[in-house]
Amino acid sequence: MYDPATGEVQATVDLASVAEVNDVVTSAAKAAIDWAESSLTQRTQIMFRFRELLAERTDELARVISSEHGKVVSDAAGEVARGLENVEFACGIAHHLKGEINEQVSAGIEVYSLRQPLGVVAGITPFNFPAMVPAWMFATAIACGNAFICKPSERDPSASMLIAEWFIEAGLPPGVFSVINGDKEAVDALIDHDDIAAISFVGSTPIASYVYERATSAGKRVQALGGAKNHMLVLPDADIEMAADAAVSAAYGSAGERCMAVSALVAVGSAADELVEAISKRIPDLKIGVGTEPDSEMGPLITAEHRDRVAGYVQRAQQAGAVAVVDGSTADLPANGFFYGPTLLDQVTADMECYQDEIFGPVLSVVRVETFREAMDLINSNPFGNGTAIFTRDGGVARQFQHEVQVGMVGINVPIPVPVAYHSFGGWKASLFGDTHMYGPEGVRFYTRAKAITARWPDPASSQIDLGFPQNS
Ligand code: NAD
Repeated sequence: MYDPATGEVQATVDLASVAEVNDVVTSAAKAAIDWAESSLTQRTQIMFRFRELLAERTDELARVISSEHGKVVSDAAGEVARGLENVEFACGIAHHLKGEINEQVSAGIEVYSLRQPLGVVAGITPFNFPAMVPAWMFATAIACGNAFICKPSERDPSASMLIAEWFIEAGLPPGVFSVINGDKEAVDALIDHDDIAAISFVGSTPIASYVYERATSAGKRVQALGGAKNHMLVLPDADIEMAADAAVSAAYGSAGERCMAVSALVAVGSAADELVEAISKRIPDLKIGVGTEPDSEMGPLITAEHRDRVAGYVQRAQQAGAVAVVDGSTADLPANGFFYGPTLLDQVTADMECYQDEIFGPVLSVVRVETFREAMDLINSNPFGNGTAIFTRDGGVARQFQHEVQVGMVGINVPIPVPVAYHSFGGWKASLFGDTHMYGPEGVRFYTRAKAITARWPDPASSQIDLGFPQNS
């Protein structure tokens, strides 16, 4: 495992064998039995204690994330804060698990519904949010009464290991939250294990699709979130300075290694020239450096291979006819580490590789269109549908955009519309495989199954035999 800011190997990660995965699942399955019987009061108290530890230790966790992932500490602290929201949502689990009842559906009969935990559930998470994405899963899964096994990215696993320690400190019984370090072998072993009831996955689209296919074939409940190509649509009537600030923040924050990063800027008519100028003026002021330096605003990419992959996209984009208004390969960057400068590509067209692929780096492609309709057709024909945003002062057009756009999370003058923890997160099309979005109310449904009970407490004196099909009266 590297320190991406220096390029040095800083630690090694032992990858679990199938036998080790099986041992962890066995412990989790044992722990899940008692945990499912724990009272809502007990679960809530532990979750509140964990919430306090996480809030107090945000800075410690953010520094660990920064040293392994490379993102700047303030950005890592932001990710922890968003993960904390999921823990706070889980502190209210008693409310979220309330069932429903109808009294007197028939003479003397009640029907009520309740939700029960699934048992052992597993989460497989990506490198780019080593604390927040696990929190999308474990907070709700555990509060609902399940045992949770986290398989973090092998590139930055320490955040989930710390979280596991802090849960024990908060009073969570051993085995209810476990971490397995591993790669494909461990993932496959989790998917295939009979004692795992559900799989949550977040990562790239090809692996999301693979995990979805394999886990659903194994009879499991699955939510698998994949990659993205997020469009920001700017109309000529927008506040161009505000749109330029938003585009720079959303394209280059975390060096573009966010599934909600804006990577395609769709500029309508006269907005294009003004935006390209405003964005290119801002780029030289961005402070690129080691994530733990207080002044740094953008850190390195995760590995040397990934940096070279990003550089290859930029080079080929220019060969295909895109104009590099700002070329990250010529930026003034720290001497070591996996840095790549913010890049602005203009005159990008829908047939170019740099538009079609998720580059996952600090590369913003400007696609020029003449009309709102042309912009909508472009966005809606893209295979991904994770996030999108419109920048305009026209409420009617914004309303039309939110109604027609084929994307799961939509921002109106908001560039990174990640829903708060009490709504749910998820894209459409190739950005999500499965029916259930992650965290919030849909998370509660995913990690529980419903039971409907029809009950009668008759007066024994009125008992009689009736062979007819039960009807309500
Ligand atoms: P990745 O798909 O390479 O890895 C994700 C997880 O899958 C890791 O734990 C990894 O160990 C495991 N994995 C990798 N290859 C595997 C294989 N062949 N079989 C089984 N498991 C395998 O993704 P990444 O590079 O860690 O993360 C970046 C990707 O994640 C980007 O595409 C990004 O858009 C996406 N992402 C999506 C969301 C979302 O909410 N939709 C959020 C964050 C990241």
